[in-house]
Amino acid sequence: MKSTMQPYQLTVTSLMHHGARLFGGTSEVITWRGDKARHATYAEVAERAARLANALCLMGVKPGDRVATLAWNNQEHLEAYLAIPCMGAVLHTLNLRLTPQQLVHIVNDAKDKVIIVDGSLVPLLAAIREHVPTVEHVIVFGEGDTGKLGDHVTYDDVIAAQPSTYDWPEIEEDSAAAMCYTTGTTGDPKGVVYSHRAIWLHCFGVWGAFRLDERERLLVIVPMFHVNAWGIPYVAWMLGCTLLLPDRFLQPEPLCAFITAERPTFTGGVPTIFTGMLQYAQANNADLSSIKRAICGGSAVPRALIEAFRDKLDIELIQAWGMTETSPIGCIATPPPGVPVEEEMDWRSKTGRAVPGVDLRIVGDDGGELPWDGRSVGELEARGPWITGSYYGVEAPERFHDGWLRTGDVGVIDSRGYLQITDRSKDVIKSGGEWISSVELENHLAAHPAVAEAAVVGVADAKWEERPLAAVVLRPGAEAGPEDLRNFLDGKVARWWLPERWTFVTELPKTSVGKQDKKVIRQLYTDGKLDVQEVGKAAR
Ligand code: ADP
Repeated sequence: MKSTMQPYQLTVTSLMHHGARLFGGTSEVITWRGDKARHATYAEVAERAARLANALCLMGVKPGDRVATLAWNNQEHLEAYLAIPCMGAVLHTLNLRLTPQQLVHIVNDAKDKVIIVDGSLVPLLAAIREHVPTVEHVIVFGEGDTGKLGDHVTYDDVIAAQPSTYDWPEIEEDSAAAMCYTTGTTGDPKGVVYSHRAIWLHCFGVWGAFRLDERERLLVIVPMFHVNAWGIPYVAWMLGCTLLLPDRFLQPEPLCAFITAERPTFTGGVPTIFTGMLQYAQANNADLSSIKRAICGGSAVPRALIEAFRDKLDIELIQAWGMTETSPIGCIATPPPGVPVEEEMDWRSKTGRAVPGVDLRIVGDDGGELPWDGRSVGELEARGPWITGSYYGVEAPERFHDGWLRTGDVGVIDSRGYLQITDRSKDVIKSGGEWISSVELENHLAAHPAVAEAAVVGVADAKWEERPLAAVVLRPGAEAGPEDLRNFLDGKVARWWLPERWTFVTELPKTSVGKQDKKVIRQLYTDGKLDVQEVGKAAR
């Protein structure tokens, strides 16, 4: 028997109309300019999005064509987020931190027809322009030196010449709305294509999981070039939250100045950004008091960071898990009701529970599902309406298993459904046939008062096959040696987990989205480029 419900299509267009109609005159989009903010109402942004759609249409953009953006988090980027999917084209956000070779690869792979570029990023595009022949038009917004760019038009000029309304087409919910390439932490970038339906449902999932409403002033630190900024711009727009966009001012000092001036209530970012913000805020007495909650993910969030946010800044830092392939929100770590306050942190420092709509399972080496007992370690697999079932243009059968996405993350799930990621399959340390969790070691190290940041990677060992190497960045002025840190870990983890190899560095290598780049740390070690101190022996 069929239902009596309408075949209403779940599209970004419906979200756009909802935000513009209900909050057009009241909610704002605020972009930071380094010293002051630029304000626009939702109505102004929606009108400019309609003008942009008209301009793109005139340039020959047809349904299904890819229109790329190379931009920071700002108003024009949001206009592109609305105009491109709603006109039936596909928004392709280019990760501006990829290497020029990777950028050339992904623009050609996606066959982008138009690129909308931030003035400050023109040199990056100019350097690859002649290698991306599918690109027919370049639109530049904001200030920038366009001398070496070749043919281009100016955003404000082209949209000013266009009508202020657009005849938005009817769109099938399963058609492509946006695409994003993985950052290639564990291989070549691969394209993931989000449907209108996936974005729509993901918005509803995030709305519920983050408990947002129009009173929030939402600071989007996560780059809009990475997984649609975790879907936050769309969910904010749908709910009428005021959106605060930091543009390229992501260093702690200007970011804190933006926060003090425009008073966000909620934000989201990777742990490295929040670690920097915390250090700066403490050293400079920055006023971050408007922020009540922040979502943190993209890599494991150290317990010490969640505690410091609570104790020093009075901010609830909430861990979440996700990946480009999962739109990205998959899990969120809020404690279950009724746990004593002193146990809350144990739950918050886990990876989290699946948000409704996402199915998770842990699978053993033999492909069989493992029990949710908090002990059985295996690869995490995921499925759901906003989880990719393939990659764009490449066969990758090894990444899928009976319709589930193989995440490449390794961990356990307990009887209440709380996931704990212990590693990535490429990062796991297998010592004498047993797993050592780099995430757990890093977590404990981050809690040492002298440690600003720590990464643990597996390196080859003649006797044990692999042993952990700890790479540590000390806080300015702080002192601690390998023995101090080894002693500090002793008793917190199994003795045979204690690293013998230690290296102290001023900075850890980071990926294009600010995560620790363990591939590079391992390579530096293999190439003998790290100054490694050895203490103790592997005990078994
Ligand atoms: P890339 O895979 O190229 O780093 P993504 O942004 O898609 O780019 O990263 C997804 C990965 O980030 C996950 O597979 C996982 O390894 C890691 N990750 C994200 N959130 C968490 C978290 N809360 N805890 C541990 N790892 C996380």
